[in-house]
Amino acid sequence: MMKSCPKCSGEMLETKNKGIFIARRNDGLIGETETVKYMCRECGYIEEYAVNPFYLKRRE
Ligand SMILES: [Zn+2]
Repeated sequence: MMKSCPKCSGEMLETKNKGIFIARRNDGLIGETETVKYMCRECGYIEEYAVNPFYLKRRE
C-alpha cells in the first residue's frame, strides 16, 4: 500500500531504522517509545509516528 505525501502527493518510503521518542510521563517517570518515519521521495518531507503513543500516558 503506497502512502502519499500530504504536501505534494508524492510516494512516501517507510524507514527501516526505528527512531526513539523520550518524554516525561504524567507519573514523573521518563518513558520512551519507538517511532517510525516516512519520507517523501519527491520533496523530502518527513512524517514521524510513535509506534505506541499510549505508552507515554500509562500510569504504573
Ligand atoms: Zn512530497
